[in-house]
Amino acid sequence: MEIVHSAASQRRNPVPLPVALDEVISWGCSGKGWNCCTDKAIPVKPYDMVRLRHSLSKSSQTLINERLVHFDWDDSGVLTGWLAQQPYEGNRVACAFYEEITNRDAHAMRETDPERFAAMPASIQHAADGPQGGTWRVAGLCGVHLGRPAACRGYPFQRDPLWSEHPEQTVGQVFNCGSCALAERTTVREVMLDNSLTPFWQADDAYRAFARYLHALGFANIKDARYRLIPMDPAARSNLWLSLFVPDANARVHETYPDQWTTPLDIEGDREVFRLVLEDVLARVDALVAASGLSTDALGGPEATPPRPDIAALLAPDRAVLPPPAVIPLQVAG
Ligand code: SF4
Ligand code: SF4
Repeated sequence: MEIVHSAASQRRNPVPLPVALDEVISWGCSGKGWNCCTDKAIPVKPYDMVRLRHSLSKSSQTLINERLVHFDWDDSGVLTGWLAQQPYEGNRVACAFYEEITNRDAHAMRETDPERFAAMPASIQHAADGPQGGTWRVAGLCGVHLGRPAACRGYPFQRDPLWSEHPEQTVGQVFNCGSCALAERTTVREVMLDNSLTPFWQADDAYRAFARYLHALGFANIKDARYRLIPMDPAARSNLWLSLFVPDANARVHETYPDQWTTPLDIEGDREVFRLVLEDVLARVDALVAASGLSTDALGGPEATPPRPDIAALLAPDRAVLPPPAVIPLQVAG
């Protein structure tokens, strides 16, 4: 499998703007996907892959073989996955899982696939009854809605992972939904908590700590003479990172949770799968460092080796990942 070195797709995403977490804003998601599912590079991190795998009837290796998820190395030498894109309106692109429904599509669906039509949102059902003289966009559907990655859930906001470390920096990052958005009074905190993002953020913290550890031990894919790589075959090093994205091929996962992928949505089970995968790779990394006979100070970059991440603690369901709302001091009467 080809893994490219520069994230060309990453450069398509606009630079986000900060917005305060508890600021009242006018925004609501229309669910149409006109801006979040088009012309955006959607990152797939290892926990996203667990959730994608769970939602689809395809193994993660099939998703990779079919190039629905492809990879490149980011600037810090960490492997990142991306959702595939499909052509959309001229020279634009849309996510491979995106299906845009027009009034004509709605009308045709009612005739040819009444069962699917009956499960469609009201906007699509109404469009089938409307005038059919022209063609206009009605809605967008996500083919992997229950398992969509964190980047889709949070759009147009992004969590700053440093929130957990610096709660005073309570900023979100906003993209522009444009004509797709509704106008409702809300706050970024409400929006983000409404999208079942907590397990994704906990997983993101665990993965960031994991990646920092591997980076410090020479496992990052960095071509710089000053970076001291762990002595191992480059293909084996790539495969070590790739194994994070094929959770269903992990022997411990298979042995411990043989029926995981056939159960309905199971956030606790998926969390456990992710924990097993990260801990398995950590154990392999530690064994490789021990076998190299090198001191941890002689590997990686100039940074001190961080403590071995406690994956179970970082994934604990009750670990807070958003700072608590600001407390407004009570006025003392009198
Ligand atoms: S309002 Fe924004 S987040 Fe919602 S579907 Fe439209 S572009 Fe996507
Ligand atoms: S995964 Fe779903 S929500 Fe995310 S970009 Fe693709 S179609 Fe849109």
